[in-house]
Amino acid sequence: MQVILASASPRRREILARIAWPFEVRPADVDESQHAGEDPEAYVQRLAGEKAVVASRKTPDALVIGADTSVVVDGRVLGKPADAADAARMLADLSGRAHRVLSAVAVARGGHVRRSFLGRSDVKFRKLADAEIAAYAASEEPLDKAGAYSIQGGAGTFVRAVEGSVTCVIGLPLEETAAMLEELGAASPLAELPDEAIALRWRSVAAEVAARAVACGRPAGSVQLVTVTKGHPARVASAVVAAGGRELGENYVQEARDKREFVGRAGAGEDVRWHLIGNLQRNKAKLAAGLFDVVHTIDRFEVAAALAKDAVAPLQLLVQVNVDRDPAKAGVAPEAAAELVGRVRALPDLEVVGLMTVGRAGASPEGVRATFAALRELRDALREKGHESLRELSMGMSGDYHAAIEEGATLVRLGTAIVGPRSRAARGG
Ligand SMILES: *Cc1c(COP(=O)(O)O)cnc(C)c1O
Repeated sequence: MQVILASASPRRREILARIAWPFEVRPADVDESQHAGEDPEAYVQRLAGEKAVVASRKTPDALVIGADTSVVVDGRVLGKPADAADAARMLADLSGRAHRVLSAVAVARGGHVRRSFLGRSDVKFRKLADAEIAAYAASEEPLDKAGAYSIQGGAGTFVRAVEGSVTCVIGLPLEETAAMLEELGAASPLAELPDEAIALRWRSVAAEVAARAVACGRPAGSVQLVTVTKGHPARVASAVVAAGGRELGENYVQEARDKREFVGRAGAGEDVRWHLIGNLQRNKAKLAAGLFDVVHTIDRFEVAAALAKDAVAPLQLLVQVNVDRDPAKAGVAPEAAAELVGRVRALPDLEVVGLMTVGRAGASPEGVRATFAALRELRDALREKGHESLRELSMGMSGDYHAAIEEGATLVRLGTAIVGPRSRAARGG
């Protein structure tokens, strides 16, 4: 079934690419003024509905998504600022306190709204200095944003905390919109996404990862997104680089070699860092040392020693820890990590930069969180013992990166959320 987005917002377009593909963008022209005395929640829901219905009348057979996002402070709605002075007034209004972000979504078909959802999130701003407000208001960023800021952009440092959905704050509540579209029979994204879809999805996930860091009081740039394209053709890795991705993760040495060649031939990739996130056998260490910038999966001294023999530039290593002592998983036992870190740190041309773990598949949200918290505590304990080079925590995959970021991840490894499901023929992981 055809899917239409009745909104011109680039952020919504990026988020929708993670839910539906293909779709068309046909912004609906509706009068966006608030009725006298109209309650803010009623207002955003009415606008989302009107946008969906207006566009749906033109294409009655399609599923049409209308959306509206507003910032509410003291019961007043802050829409998009008219100019820089208006933006500065809005930011001064938000400074030093909490406001509510409302994101309404309506899905119409045949000229009627069939499903709708109202997302509510609370955002706390720290006190802003006048100079900060003036500088941000004078930039391009606030002009097309409700409330004059973008959490994933330059206003990230203004935010102290977010309670509620991060994608609601960005402008389209992801899970709820996906559920509505599924109920109404929209097809889920293809397994082999075209480059355009991959670019939109990469940008959306990168913005969301930054916003999630901000939402738990961390700097926007404190979590690096490693995009995992294993099991997908090399073209997919190239599309990620073209979209702006500079950290690529691979599980298999041979596959990484092919992709590096491909990305290099496409004229990009000079500044791409390649991360090995799969198990490394000692007999592949020579090849791996020449291909990768970061190896996340060191759990035996012998493999690190073999890498040290052929390391060119200082190769960065992370020690993989089997936090849950799962016999099916790689990694050293937590109590053996200190000794391994110490021995590997003594090797030349290597830098041990952190710890890595894989969350338990199918664990409860609390269980996943406990695994990640334990890795953070282990890293902190090792730093106290003098291993201060351990800065990084590589944890979080498509199914559990929300919790990982909240527990301090500095590297998240995401495949499916960005490039879609791997084909069944692709080797596991
Ligand atoms: C495959 C893989 C990922 C990416 O998994 P998704 O669920 O597709 O995000 C991350 N880390 C490791 C170790 C992997 O093997």
